[in-house]
Amino acid sequence: MNILLLGSGGREHALAWKIAASPLVERLYCAPGNAGIAQEAGTVSLNIADHVAVMAFCRSHRIDLVVVGPEAPLCAGIVDDLTDAGVKAFGPSKAAARLEGSKGFTKDLCKANNIPTAAYERFTTAAAAKAYVRTQGAPIVIKADGLAAGKGVVVATSIAEAEAAIDMMFGGELGEAGGEVVVEEFLEGEEASFFALCDGDNAIALASAQDHKRVFDGDQGPNTGGMGAYSPAPLMTPEMTKRVMDEIVLPTVAAMNAMGAPYKGLLYAGLMITTQGPKLIEYNVRFGDPECQVLMLRLMSDLVPALLACSDGMLKNFDLRWYPEAALTVVMAAKGYPGSYAKGSVIEGLEAAAQIEGVEIFHSGTAAEGGQILANGGRVLNVSALGKTVAEAQARAYAAIDRIRWPEGFCRRDIGWRAVEREQQARP
Ligand code: AMP
Repeated sequence: MNILLLGSGGREHALAWKIAASPLVERLYCAPGNAGIAQEAGTVSLNIADHVAVMAFCRSHRIDLVVVGPEAPLCAGIVDDLTDAGVKAFGPSKAAARLEGSKGFTKDLCKANNIPTAAYERFTTAAAAKAYVRTQGAPIVIKADGLAAGKGVVVATSIAEAEAAIDMMFGGELGEAGGEVVVEEFLEGEEASFFALCDGDNAIALASAQDHKRVFDGDQGPNTGGMGAYSPAPLMTPEMTKRVMDEIVLPTVAAMNAMGAPYKGLLYAGLMITTQGPKLIEYNVRFGDPECQVLMLRLMSDLVPALLACSDGMLKNFDLRWYPEAALTVVMAAKGYPGSYAKGSVIEGLEAAAQIEGVEIFHSGTAAEGGQILANGGRVLNVSALGKTVAEAQARAYAAIDRIRWPEGFCRRDIGWRAVEREQQARP
């Protein structure tokens, strides 16, 4: 098969690495890709927002399957366009991608189908949203309805903060995404990420994973796209996995099917594990980044048949096998991230770092120039490792990081700390 992967981050490098290992694959391309992905796939400088150009590439290169990494092309309907053109694609249709593209849509779907989630109201004016906030009190959560690249959620600890967030969103700072706002109840508990492959009718849970969103050690500082992740996540016991499938994922798949928008692709549920059980915080319609990196390291089965089964509606009776080892990834970012940062600094020592047992380095924002690897984004590298325990995977990842010479970069030094603490407590 010839496969085209769309995207350019660490998630796509991990997907490319896993897809390239499949005996089913003849040629793998990635658009636009990065310097790391170029080691696994032929990188193509295509504008992936230009669906006509993507379809033309598929025709000229006899692409049998397109795998869509990020959410923006999914919400823009690239899978619909490819399907109409007779090209198979992994990912949801535009109508199904509303699960990420519109928070209001997802909340209404939850309410109509008794899927546990935070209580909420939808608003199209600031005055009405503020009046509601005053009746509810703080803490309270303000969310822009549309895609806002991680900037659309404010957990407000006071009414003043909530009102400021409402003004910011309706004030146009997030563009169209803020034209409607959801105000929801603040949930208490521990967060968990949950991933399932879906084929429109059926869903299968993947291994569990947990990310770290805050930029600094101890889960302090501003939110980011994710500074590291590990798998498995101890919180996700087999019982909890079953509850999430039965109470959240399967009812969602059934509801989407019933409304004529069957969900095919990867469904990522952000959860709060509360004293009453799991509640949905939000859906994403693609793999998490960096959770994808640890899932791909642990996946024993060939990924390609699973992707095909999703798009062909053949997941029933499908089974995925996982390595029992733990996996952990640490994000190395450019200093200043998630604020402003410089591009173009030189990264050295990657080969020596990759020689440490169990280590795999995925690139999330790099470019190659004159035989050197340059930083080309905010999040730049995902230094990842397998180990018998989360603690061992963590030790290997940091040993690799200590071989990387990149003074302009930084990383957290405590990725996986909760899981490592739990492992230590479990030991006699
Ligand atoms: P989201 O983009 O919806 O995942 O929200 C970003 C982060 O905001 C989540 O990972 C949570 O930490 C927090 N969050 C969102 N909604 C809630 C809620 N209802 N209660 C508490 N925290 C929330």
